[in-house]
Amino acid sequence: MNDACIFCRIVAGTIPAQIVAQNEVALAFRDLSPQAPVHVLVVPRRHVDSLAATDDAAELGAVLALAAEVARQEGVAESGYRVVTNVGRDGGQTVGHLHFHVLAGRSMTWPPG
Ligand code: 5GP
Ligand code: ZN
Repeated sequence: MNDACIFCRIVAGTIPAQIVAQNEVALAFRDLSPQAPVHVLVVPRRHVDSLAATDDAAELGAVLALAAEVARQEGVAESGYRVVTNVGRDGGQTVGHLHFHVLAGRSMTWPPG
């Protein structure tokens, strides 16, 4: 755990979040500032800076499996959804703990901004 990290603190339960799903490896909770009707963040419980900082395929698999589970649970697996992770400055990452955004409930545009 990284005490300075907001998502580590959500995983530890020391700051509140609306948790929607979890498994042994990952936690899913609603984004504070939703950009779509469904906007859930899926994070590894372990602190990892970003996708650029890990090659732990088992952990990444469990995180992505939970993202797919969130989509089923939110009822958007059929209509579709987007899973995205921002990495570093040019990727637009603002929180330095690996997270996948699950976005759904509206039609997404491409290319992203
Ligand atoms: P990034 O910009 O790093 O890809 O995404 C960070 C996301 O975390 C943003 O969508 C932002 O709204 C969300 N966020 C930042 N702080 C908090 C928080 O304290 N709680 C929750 N639930 N989401 C947060
Ligand atoms: Zn962290």
